[in-house]
Amino acid sequence: MAHYNNDLVYRGFFGLAIGDALGVPVEFLGRNWLKKNPVRDFQAFGTHQVPAGTWSDDTSMTLALAWSLIEKHCFDYDDIMQRFCDWLYHDNYTATGRTFDVGGTCAAAIGNYARNRDPRSCGESGERSNGNGSLMRILPVAYVSYANQLSDVDRYRLTRDNSALTHAHEISILGCYIYVTFVCSLLNGRSKNEAYADIKKAHYSMFSEEAMAKYHRILKGNIASLDESEIASSGYVLNSLEAALWCLMTSDNYEDAVLKAVNLGKDTDTVGAITGSMAGICYGIPQVWAKKLQNAAYLKKTCKRFAETQITPSYLD
Ligand SMILES: [Mg+2]
Repeated sequence: MAHYNNDLVYRGFFGLAIGDALGVPVEFLGRNWLKKNPVRDFQAFGTHQVPAGTWSDDTSMTLALAWSLIEKHCFDYDDIMQRFCDWLYHDNYTATGRTFDVGGTCAAAIGNYARNRDPRSCGESGERSNGNGSLMRILPVAYVSYANQLSDVDRYRLTRDNSALTHAHEISILGCYIYVTFVCSLLNGRSKNEAYADIKKAHYSMFSEEAMAKYHRILKGNIASLDESEIASSGYVLNSLEAALWCLMTSDNYEDAVLKAVNLGKDTDTVGAITGSMAGICYGIPQVWAKKLQNAAYLKKTCKRFAETQITPSYLD
């Protein structure tokens, strides 16, 4: 087992939650509006009418997965789905005791599981079910992949089985696999530029040419060379991953990366969360924001317990 310390877990999880909370008040707003009224700090109210520093489904589902891993020491897919039900139907793992901001595909998959109790078939697999709802919660898979120094194939299997609980289409799985591979490289001490080179060299033979072609701007080109006008920041998994990598690669500190992400508009909290998780690991996070998060003590306790727990990768097949 490779070792990761509490600090690396803290930076990833808090980085994600801060990016999420910065984006929540302006979710769905357009880029032009945000150019005139840019987000610079946590704000109260806005889109979801919640207190400043409130994080949403992105962080809640990440925490639900993390607590399953902490308590089961492996991937128990029934337990993970039950915890997603506890979040959606009973407000568990939330910032302020209230579940809000639920994506359509996640809600459908959790509903499927509540009826059928089958983690192998509850995920949605249509091409239209490729929102960012599995990408936004996949961070713990990167830590476990790193800690166990998984091969590309095993990292793919673990990522696939986790994404497919809600998002079973290969476009979603590929987006998650690129992200998990990138984060693993950062955890291995590689710079963001080295991590970007690593994702281009990883194994992709398990994916179709059609799916690979979708991600060509990341895997064949240089995402950082694109102009902001070429970066969409919608909830489509491809757009969200492109936006997050673009924000990370074109900034050199945590604050600039997440504020750039949020101010792209549209799916502000999720693009903020994905960017924030990577930027937190790269640069560390500002304590002033970490302290202002709602339910920060619970997040901190989760990081400590997660960092202490040895977690075995386990698969559905
Ligand atoms: Mg959200």
